Amino acid sequence: MTKVKNLIVGAGFSGAVLAHKIATELNEKVLIIDVKSHIGGNCYDYWDKNGICVHQYGTHIFHTNLKEVWDYISQFTKWYPYMHQVKGYIDGQEVPIPFNLNSIHQIFPKPMADQLEQKLIAKFGFNVKVPILKLRGTGDKDLEFLANYIYEKVFLHYTLKQWGMKPEDLNPAVTGRVPVYISRDNRYFQDSYQGIPMEGYTNVIKKMLAHPNIQVKLNTKFEQQQFTYDRLFYTGPIDEFFGYELGKLPYRSLRFDFVEFEKSYFQSNSVINYPNNYDFTRIGEYKYFLDNQSDKTVISFEYPEMFEEGKNERYYPIVKDENQELYSRYLEKANALKNTYFLGRLGDYKYYDMDKAIARALELFRRIQ
Ligand code: FAD
Ligand code: UDP
Repeated sequence: MTKVKNLIVGAGFSGAVLAHKIATELNEKVLIIDVKSHIGGNCYDYWDKNGICVHQYGTHIFHTNLKEVWDYISQFTKWYPYMHQVKGYIDGQEVPIPFNLNSIHQIFPKPMADQLEQKLIAKFGFNVKVPILKLRGTGDKDLEFLANYIYEKVFLHYTLKQWGMKPEDLNPAVTGRVPVYISRDNRYFQDSYQGIPMEGYTNVIKKMLAHPNIQVKLNTKFEQQQFTYDRLFYTGPIDEFFGYELGKLPYRSLRFDFVEFEKSYFQSNSVINYPNNYDFTRIGEYKYFLDNQSDKTVISFEYPEMFEEGKNERYYPIVKDENQELYSRYLEKANALKNTYFLGRLGDYKYYDMDKAIARALELFRRIQ
């Protein structure tokens, strides 16, 4: 039996923020454990033999409007000022995603594109983001045509691959992450702060955990009977913690197929989505993020699959009402426990981006302080 003051399960961003705050501001001892053989959780990256920083669990771009989060992480890193763009392979062309006015002009003949642009601006305004599910149902014949085109060519088949469901069967917030953008701005995110840590994400988390009050133990799965603690912070799956007694929370997983090529670049952009072709959803090419120079390149094909224990990893909570209900019942049980706190993508069963996971951990720290 190991006795600790603060036990943190999971060495991803959520766990690392709490460890750092407790160690530095409360001056208390922390043991942080992770079942994986590395720190960083899903943000783990490493430099390969060609000097390319590879994100082991898929392309990760830091973006936030939360200045507090940006300033906090900036203590641990300088940023490469990278602004993410995504292209979608649609009807034989690589067009900007989110689908925007440039995408329209790339795909449709000029008179048609001009008319669609005018109608969109008249109906919604310029520089406005319209979720695809809202773009359908305007009643205007031309806009209906456009909405159906975008729905079919950008969202439907990608979402079927990614989630095994149609866009309308998921919580609208999911496809709402990538709204149609009535703008000429080709960036994936419009957040004020965006970038890639110059030395990679793993080094950020390594610095967060480099404190005499913090002990890190890898390859260690949480077993309740092996620890006593004053406080427990659990960033693993909440249903697993309770032995699945109310049922299993479903997740989507991914299989990454990494391939190295003996050429400088494989594709024209860091990420290219393939909504309508192949069984993968997208290809990421890693050297773009930090502009790593090499005559080799590494890419990953991203194949979605259902999460199955022992076979793959939990990557995405499936945001649907019935799953939310089950989660709420687990949350009730969690709230009844003393000195035990759940957080993170798996602990909160929320589709957090990195900044939201960090903000949540900072907020929890303020609460326990
Ligand atoms: P995690 O990183 O999942 O960490 C949880 C840790 O807990 C893991 O290391 C796990 O091994 C450990 N653990 C779980 N159970 C146990 C147990 N029982 N015992 C011991 N250890 C345990 N966000 C962005 O902002 N930008 C992006 O571009 C972006 N891209 C993404 C792409 C993909 C494919 C995915 C899946 C996510 C992406 N995200 C992105 C989201 C980002 O990965 C998460 O926000 C972030 O990882 C959340 O950190 P976390 O600490 O909550 O969870
Ligand atoms: N999406 C889509 N086509 C695209 C990009 C996104 O249908 O070309 C939908 C899909 O359902 C996806 C969701 O929008 O799961 C959110 O996309 P995002 O790129 O934010 O997903 P993540 O990077 O988190 O996997």
